[in-house]
Amino acid sequence: MLTLELPKSNPTPELGSASRILLVEDEELIREMLIVSLEEEGYKVVTATDGGAALSLLQNAELNTNTFDLIVLDLMLPQVNGLDLCRWLRYQGNPVPILIVSAKSTETDRVLGLEVGADDYITKPFSMRELIARCRALLRRQRLNLSAQQPVLQWRDVTLYPQECRTFARGEEVNLSPKEFRLLELFMSYPRRVWSRDQLIDRVWGADFLGDTKTVDVHIRWLREKLEKDPSQPEYVITVRGFGYRFG
Ligand code: CA
Repeated sequence: MLTLELPKSNPTPELGSASRILLVEDEELIREMLIVSLEEEGYKVVTATDGGAALSLLQNAELNTNTFDLIVLDLMLPQVNGLDLCRWLRYQGNPVPILIVSAKSTETDRVLGLEVGADDYITKPFSMRELIARCRALLRRQRLNLSAQQPVLQWRDVTLYPQECRTFARGEEVNLSPKEFRLLELFMSYPRRVWSRDQLIDRVWGADFLGDTKTVDVHIRWLREKLEKDPSQPEYVITVRGFGYRFG
């Protein structure tokens, strides 16, 4: 029996409340109740009624970068079961938090669920309030992780790892000076945005920099020499006549 307890919902959702949740559940009654409760919390809920549908949604999400912030996943599902779905996601390197919701309650299932990469496990029957609390906790943790982690920057065949201060172009590591690195990081954070020399000085050298804008040109030349296949025909760091520079 499912506990039909509705949560005392907090109508003012937390920061970033438009979190997208993928709900994978084949039992209609439970699914409908979960949709109502999650939507009341301000979450956007996308549903899949079997493992196969979930799989194609996730594959499309991957392509569209239309990703989910959390997956609420039943284990016993038609087509592809929850454990396999979980395994597949982790095999793909997808770090989305997964909350398993299952009628299975043995310790083995719980451990197995966590071993294949689920983040939490809740056994039916459960109260909606508890489920919502766990969803919130997972989303909060996810948000903290995301803010602590700087994303890897990628543009065509140039990759920059902000935390490791490393850059690769066409598969080869490129050794940049701190200023060159900072310049490239800024460029890659805003592809195609045009920067004036003064803006670049402010962002890379700091507002109290005493040199002139020629310094920017010199660093751009060095950056091109290290980055571009042919520095005289730059493909990455482009001069925008009369304005400054842009990346890409
Ligand atoms: Ca089921």
